Amino acid sequence: EAKRRGRNHAVIFDRQMEEELRQRSELEADMRVGIRTGQFMPYYQPQIDLLSGKLHGLEVLARWVHPTKGLLEPTEFIPIAEASGLISDLSLDVMRQALAEAKDWESELMLAVNVSPVQLKDPLLAQRVIKVLIETGFAPQRLELEITESSLFDNLDLALTTIESLKNYGITVSLDDFGTGYSSLTQLQALPFDRIKIDRSFVTSMVDNDESAAIVSSILNLGASLGLPVTAEGIETPAIKHALSILGCAQGQGWLIGRPVPAAGLKDFLNRAGPAAQPLHAGEAAA
Ligand code: C2E
Ligand code: MG
Ligand code: MG
Ligand code: MG
Repeated sequence: EAKRRGRNHAVIFDRQMEEELRQRSELEADMRVGIRTGQFMPYYQPQIDLLSGKLHGLEVLARWVHPTKGLLEPTEFIPIAEASGLISDLSLDVMRQALAEAKDWESELMLAVNVSPVQLKDPLLAQRVIKVLIETGFAPQRLELEITESSLFDNLDLALTTIESLKNYGITVSLDDFGTGYSSLTQLQALPFDRIKIDRSFVTSMVDNDESAAIVSSILNLGASLGLPVTAEGIETPAIKHALSILGCAQGQGWLIGRPVPAAGLKDFLNRAGPAAQPLHAGEAAA
């Protein structure tokens, strides 16, 4: 009996795996078409100065307007894009659209674009990014690249070379999802980052969980002693925002401040945000 059941489970398991594989390769095929036909688009999430409420920049987050499945979020397609080698084309395509449309927005607004660990293994990454800057005419000083902490150490030499090239071109480079990887203090000091972003998992739980609060606090101390500004992501409630201000965190983003929205929705956000927000268009910009 147990044996028979075991065999049945194995059959069911095989069928499930087969079905998952089929769905993955279908989505991968859809993705190739999607990249070619412009189904991927940038959403933007505000990053603000927590003290003044002033808008500092926008994080670019990819969304897929799938012809039959509707609006898909990165968790549903980034892993497949990474596994299939499509991530570079996809990311650069979304970045190109973002830079092209944000070019004429308020002149000091930063645009923060994510770089996948897979992209960081591409020796031509810096060249590809610079090419997009040239094609769109976007100022390198307004571009920030977010590099995930855990992706650095597969090939540290290549990562460092790439980061140096980007920085030499005037691009800002920040360390994303900090706290989830394994960088030691010494390593962090040797890495040429301009900013640290505290991983969302610590921030969202910091009010209810002492360990999370301790991690957030020590990352802020680390930033202060290395002279690096720190951004907290995942600010979902006023209590979290308040706790971060007490700890002296200068910058943040999260659902409380604003969800990721397409460019059109961003105008609404800025209008609703009141006097603290900066106008979008250079012509309206306050001095
Ligand atoms: P990330 O770089 O850590 O981006 C922050 C993620 O947290 C985003 O998820 C954002 O929507 C979400 N988020 C922001 N505020 C809150 C909050 O208050 N609470 C919660 N629970 N979540 C919040 P999203 O848009 O699903 O993106 C997931 C990840 O996919 C990103 O993580 C980023 O690493 C990656 N990604 C997104 N777009 C691109 C892209 O164009 N290229 C590459 N290479 N990666 C991308
Ligand atoms: Mg990010
Ligand atoms: Mg990221
Ligand atoms: Mg994160």
